[in-house]
Amino acid sequence: METSAYAAMSAGAPLEPHTIERRDLRPHDVLIDIKYSGVCHSDIHQAREEWFTSIFPMVPGHEIAGVVSAVGSEVTKFAPGDRVGVGVFVETCMECDNCKAGLENYCVKGFVPTYNGKNYDGEVMYGGYSTAIVVDDHYVLRIPDGMELDVAAPLLCAGITTYSPLREWEAGPGKKVGIMGLGGLGHMGLKHAVAMGADVTLISHSPSKEEDAKRLGAHNFLLLSDREAMKEQAMTFDLIVNTVSAPIDLDPAINLLKTDGTMAYVGLPDKPLQMNIFGLNSQRRRIAGSNIGGIPETQEMLDFCAEHGYAADIELIDAGQINEAWDRVVNSDVRYRFVIDASTF
Ligand SMILES: [Zn+2]
Ligand SMILES: [Zn+2]
Repeated sequence: METSAYAAMSAGAPLEPHTIERRDLRPHDVLIDIKYSGVCHSDIHQAREEWFTSIFPMVPGHEIAGVVSAVGSEVTKFAPGDRVGVGVFVETCMECDNCKAGLENYCVKGFVPTYNGKNYDGEVMYGGYSTAIVVDDHYVLRIPDGMELDVAAPLLCAGITTYSPLREWEAGPGKKVGIMGLGGLGHMGLKHAVAMGADVTLISHSPSKEEDAKRLGAHNFLLLSDREAMKEQAMTFDLIVNTVSAPIDLDPAINLLKTDGTMAYVGLPDKPLQMNIFGLNSQRRRIAGSNIGGIPETQEMLDFCAEHGYAADIELIDAGQINEAWDRVVNSDVRYRFVIDASTF
């Protein structure tokens, strides 16, 4: 079916109105009437070809919230009218150990991204900056009752990306957790860690973030350039989730970790980082990485957010404002996620 969308027609080009074709429903497909689509910084990196070679025209968007409008003949989990979401990937092999364990995000064959990729049949994928999408039902999440769709959309990438490492390294009561960086990812990490019952510190380069960090629930604020405070806080953190993608001096941050503490990287610096290994082996510390989350954990995260009564802080925009919004994302001038009203595509 013909679907209205916004697309980048070539690398670095501004987004413009475009029409794409969505496939006919297969037996396990769900047709979703998109209501809202979040703007993730990775949309911009890929449309500007800053990471690797991209496919154009590109319809970005992998934070999708909408309502089911039709289902394939074999779909039993969903029915028209259901409120649903789609995140970063839309197909995996379902045969490897990771897929079988619900870690589809680490599929050995490689997941099919929601946009800027081809599925296993060679079909080019187009993302959420559009009015409708067709997705296999395994990759469709249920948005809990009582959660508005606009604030739910960013949970499908920013929400799960920060939730998964907090769960993996056991944030909770009695644990001191640092969230480094207060952007789209950081603000969700902060909310999750507070809801999990941890003692939460927002760690930042920017003193201007303190007020908002506290408003969002942080118990403490730590400025990376405050040498005195950094010395006082050394060896006190069980876990730091690092959402920063800019190059930073890692050594002082690593020194904040206790013995056996972990720094989990979810930010994506585009250049290799330098660090002194002494900081790790002196206290058996770990530096780790984490990438989004599997389908079962994504559903768990959505249900957890609903149970604790929070979602993303957003700025709602019309399709015509996307290019301006992208420039603001690059300048870190958004609190904390732009979400596009899909009725304006
Ligand atoms: Zn994303
Ligand atoms: Zn797999």
